[in-house]
Amino acid sequence: MASKVYFMNDRANSLQESTPFKAVKLLRDAGLKTLFKEGDTVGIKIHMGEYGNSLNLRPQWVGAIVEEVKRLGGNPVIVDCNTITFGDFTSRAIKSDHLRAIARHGFTEEALGCPIWICDGDYGFDDVQVEIPRGVYMKHSFMGKKLLELDACIVVTHFKGHPMGVYGGALKNVGIGMGSKRGKISTHFMNHPVYGIQAMEANQAAAQQLAQAPHPNMVDRAIEGCPFDAFEWKDGVFHFHSEKCGKCAGCFSAALFAGLLTLKPEITATWAPTIADAASGYIHAIGKEKFLFVNYAMDISPWCDCVNFHDRPLVPNIGIFASKDPVAVDLACIEASEAKAALPESKADEFGFGDPGTERFTNVSSIAKISQWAQCNAGEYNGIGSTEYILVESEPGEETDFWFPPYTPDNIFGKVNKEALRSGNYEPGEYFYDLPRLSFAELHIKPKGKVDEISILDEE
Ligand code: SF4
Repeated sequence: MASKVYFMNDRANSLQESTPFKAVKLLRDAGLKTLFKEGDTVGIKIHMGEYGNSLNLRPQWVGAIVEEVKRLGGNPVIVDCNTITFGDFTSRAIKSDHLRAIARHGFTEEALGCPIWICDGDYGFDDVQVEIPRGVYMKHSFMGKKLLELDACIVVTHFKGHPMGVYGGALKNVGIGMGSKRGKISTHFMNHPVYGIQAMEANQAAAQQLAQAPHPNMVDRAIEGCPFDAFEWKDGVFHFHSEKCGKCAGCFSAALFAGLLTLKPEITATWAPTIADAASGYIHAIGKEKFLFVNYAMDISPWCDCVNFHDRPLVPNIGIFASKDPVAVDLACIEASEAKAALPESKADEFGFGDPGTERFTNVSSIAKISQWAQCNAGEYNGIGSTEYILVESEPGEETDFWFPPYTPDNIFGKVNKEALRSGNYEPGEYFYDLPRLSFAELHIKPKGKVDEISILDEE
């Protein structure tokens, strides 16, 4: 059966058409009022962005949803889990770093107006095993234990590309984002006995080349960074003692991106479906009927907010989508992105996938080089959603619903602040010239502007 996906585009001319309040209205349309009852603990699952990335969700988008949950009598709480170790300078792999990193992005309890729970504890080990009733690849995974305290969950997602999942949407926000450290490692198959890190071999050619760089180079850092001392440099040769490997995925970046270990090519086909598999386990564990999903199809960068940079978006901003169905809401975002021409000089344009309908997530975003449809198809097989949807064009809410508190139509700014406003000094004195000192023509002439272009290297 086709699921309903509610949508508004990114154009705006009024308060109620602003991005935060469109999302609130879309959640109302999708059934927020009946998602929970008064006094319930309502998780708002967000991804707050790796240090260095700045296209993550905005705190004010999330804050508006927090306020709406409170207005309806719920107790909102921001939820996320720690990450796997992406590299030597990873920012969200343990709770203390995670909280510092997200504070830099403006995500604090004070700014959001509710508690922030890192649901798998200080080091990502506070987890619970959950079954995956109908997985494509996975039978079970591991989620942050504290997530099971939620009565309901609103999954708030920045839709974009993803190097392993091909795209990152609601399924990935749950399937990866709600996983504990062990859950994330499993979902990426990094601890798989055949395809995982333990089964990989040292890539001697890559190691020899990387070892030429000044110390501490990537090889030094891999050796230092392995908590189980599984790497060694001896007699000019790089060694991987796989029997020592503790499967922590701490060398994720050194192994995958720098190529210190030889990746098994078969692993890439698993990444997108396993995201949906894990998502289905976590959704079933909390309760399928307790979820709502809202996706912001804005700033659609080629890679995820879990990398510490972002590239120019692939396509123009599209708008916001909301649904009870994580598969349908993601699919609606992919199809809407596909319908757009790529932004000029974006990665999609550069790679020759600028025209609409060119599967640019498949061809541009992913290091997996598998289909952008795989996550959604797996999600439907998992039983958590439908690949058929009805797009419902929503309308903005009432402007008065979204006035800055405490102002209401009966309690407007001028009335509340009357005494203070009367007490101010409004006399400006003679601050102006009788005639402008540049002529109209002088003000409106186009300036000379750029007179040359050089590299900073030419400055020396
Ligand atoms: S960092 Fe060490 S223990 Fe962890 S996965 Fe890599 S080799 Fe194994």
